[in-house]
Amino acid sequence: MRLLCFLFVFCVGFNFVSADPSHPNKIRVVIDAGHGGIDTGAQSNSILEKQIVADVSSHLKELCSDKNIEVILLRTEDEFMSLQDRLAKIEALSPDLVISLHANYSPDRDRNGVEVFVAENEFTVKSSYFGTKILESFKRKDFKTSDLKSANFFLLKNLKCPAVTVELGFLSNSEDMKYLNSEFGQKFLAKQIASSLD
Ligand SMILES: [Zn+2]
Repeated sequence: MRLLCFLFVFCVGFNFVSADPSHPNKIRVVIDAGHGGIDTGAQSNSILEKQIVADVSSHLKELCSDKNIEVILLRTEDEFMSLQDRLAKIEALSPDLVISLHANYSPDRDRNGVEVFVAENEFTVKSSYFGTKILESFKRKDFKTSDLKSANFFLLKNLKCPAVTVELGFLSNSEDMKYLNSEFGQKFLAKQIASSLD
């Protein structure tokens, strides 16, 4: 049964890539770096979630420049953008996939690792295909991950395209902080996500 599920998701995903006649081979991916401006997101000492996700977004765009993927960064400045604004801007771009980047925080300082969320809507299967690939790319590097999770986050729920939210790690965990707050670590995070888009 597990194999059947995998094959189903794989086939749906494969068809998905070549489904758009306007750019049959090239997929358009919008990277939505969470927070910005007065909305700093999670914070640990002077380290801010909004900056971490912006940095990882930039690395991700750079890493995809030689792939057959058009990467559009929704936020290139440190600016506040409401969720409604994000939704409208993303919809105007008609992407094939949206990746929202965030970093986690928990009162339980032992919690760590990457988490990926998808919404339950008409795009769940396609979103799950990409979400699973992202998690697999981290697992291959023996990185701590959870199973793919379901969440009705505003953007995930309302976007009219496949979308995933990636929580890159926990600012509240000292081990996660080592990579969240280093250029080496941020490039590693971006690389794993980029490799899952191949
Ligand atoms: Zn966040």
